Amino acid sequence: MIQKIICQHVEKSFKGDGTKTIALKNVDLAFEKGEFTAIIGPSGSGKSTLLSLLGTLDKPSKGFITYDGEEILKKSKSKIADFRFQEIGFIFQQFHLLPTLTAIENVLTPLFSRKVPYNKLERAKEVLEQVGLQDKMNSLPSQLSGGQQQRVAIARAIVHKPSWLLADEPTGNLDTETGERIYDLLKDLNEQEGCGVLFVTHDPQLAAKANRIISMKDGVVISDKVGVAP
Ligand code: ADP
Ligand code: MG
Repeated sequence: MIQKIICQHVEKSFKGDGTKTIALKNVDLAFEKGEFTAIIGPSGSGKSTLLSLLGTLDKPSKGFITYDGEEILKKSKSKIADFRFQEIGFIFQQFHLLPTLTAIENVLTPLFSRKVPYNKLERAKEVLEQVGLQDKMNSLPSQLSGGQQQRVAIARAIVHKPSWLLADEPTGNLDTETGERIYDLLKDLNEQEGCGVLFVTHDPQLAAKANRIISMKDGVVISDKVGVAP
């Protein structure tokens, strides 16, 4: 259970044909597991890049990221994948559910070929209940509303009991009220399960409810306000 993630002098650049985009510049940040953090900033400011680095999906071009002092990204691919399975849950704007699988089958996918000390089916049912979808376990994504699909995606993100939840514009495709309910669910996971939550949003009203707001522009952290929530 990782308690603290530290980014030091993190830079990320992408090389194209003859071009180089610097997506993150000299980012220094520390995250504690109890925090509920919003990341805001205009499109192209590096928010998604930052989440993918924190979630070990990609590596910094310069600088380093430590997880309770350990530089996980220096390890082998399979060690990194194990770490991600242990610690990280991802939620995306587009839900990314598999259309031919039912809700419960989608939730089970992260556990496929993993050895876990609990009953997989029971655990999948438990998390679907947690997100209020006990009646929709056998529905296909096409039979669910956007809010319900995002709930399935959240259940899938927490089924393996990660300590950190990284959500990239999780309410971006939802109406305001549904978005607020998704937000409340993330807040519950932060308060009750103790998951560290980092979420990217364009919605200033949702960001304002976080207890920390990191604002980015052109790959740079331009402000970092802690203790802003009521
Ligand atoms: P945001 O999520 O804030 O909209 P991103 O992190 O997606 O911003 O992108 C930051 C910058 O990095 C943008 O200029 C984007 O075009 C560039 N970028 C992101 N991912 C890649 C990639 N895989 N290849 C090339 N450029 C990328
Ligand atoms: Mg993005």
